Amino acid sequence: MFRDFKPDWVALIFIAAYHVLLVVGLPIYLLIQRPSAALLLGSLALVTLCLLAITAGYHRLYAHRTYRVKKPAEWFMVFFGTLAAEGSIFRWAHDHRLHHRHVDGPGDPYGTEKGFWHSHLIWMLKEGDPIDPKYIRDLKDNRMLIIQDRYYGVFVTLTNLIAVGGLWALTGDLLGAVVIGFLLRTFVVHHCTWFINSLAHMWGSKPYSSEHSAVNNLILAFLTLGEGYHNYHHTFAGDYRNGVRWYQFDPPKYLIWVLSKLGLAWDLKRTDPLMIKKKLVQADQKLLINHLTRLDIHEHAQPLIEAVEKMSEKISSSIVSAKALMDRYRSLDRRQNRVEIKELRRRFREVKQEIAADLKTWRRLCQTVLSMQPAVQAA
Ligand SMILES: [Zn+2]
Ligand SMILES: [Zn+2]
Repeated sequence: MFRDFKPDWVALIFIAAYHVLLVVGLPIYLLIQRPSAALLLGSLALVTLCLLAITAGYHRLYAHRTYRVKKPAEWFMVFFGTLAAEGSIFRWAHDHRLHHRHVDGPGDPYGTEKGFWHSHLIWMLKEGDPIDPKYIRDLKDNRMLIIQDRYYGVFVTLTNLIAVGGLWALTGDLLGAVVIGFLLRTFVVHHCTWFINSLAHMWGSKPYSSEHSAVNNLILAFLTLGEGYHNYHHTFAGDYRNGVRWYQFDPPKYLIWVLSKLGLAWDLKRTDPLMIKKKLVQADQKLLINHLTRLDIHEHAQPLIEAVEKMSEKISSSIVSAKALMDRYRSLDRRQNRVEIKELRRRFREVKQEIAADLKTWRRLCQTVLSMQPAVQAA
């Protein structure tokens, strides 16, 4: 098992050392004194800022380019992302793009097919392949990222010294700033991020697609600060949101939206709601056909399978038509094409009504099929 294991000594020693120091240091510190409220709140703020910089910055801004930012917002992402000690943005974005491109396959650096611990931790302890420049071509000209990558060791040390020093100055508690503000904070930020690679591919539901292992999970959304809607994310990776519904807990989504309102972010990319619906219907279709196949009702299943396929196809093609009408509508000059615009609006309304009616029928069909039980075998 360990024959091909070439360790990345820096990662291995750093991760092992801070875990050991935390296990030893935390009980000793708690025996000596009670942490102050300022220390706990300050450390919690650092956890939140680090996780936001990783999710909104490293992940959605740099790895997926789902929006654009002005320099002050970028400084925030780079500073707190560096503080999180998860590698340079070039390395992180490179590995993450490989993960999306080869998800669940041999080229996925942290695929879950080798088990929980591999995707959660072990992959990082192995010497990674050199960065292939073709995967980060769009990031290579950003001077801030070039400098961060070149002097990463210096910056990760400096940002952590500033954070620990700040907590020490605030609380007068140096040991607490090191144990809670550095060791425990790094432990929490790391494991919460690592859950996205491990548990978010193992534990949850797949409402948008079963073509990959990524899942949606509300508990993970809280633990990872919004990245728990991983099934949606792997299905629509170009969307700046992960929790696409307004009530889904997704703090980076709110942060990016607020930045856009402050004029610090723009070009926020959203997936068309109709295309999301189309994907949901296709995922339902797979689920219904699997259910019908498992029911063991032989010849009775075939007409139902055909009805499911027919209805799903009808909805999908209506959605494609609606999208084509909308694209045509957006491409026209409103003043010069008034007649066509009016006609396009009328046809779009009609197709939308048809889709809404078909979706109602679809939901009833889903309920009917999923309530069917397997045939009881005669004794
Ligand atoms: Zn993933
Ligand atoms: Zn991603």
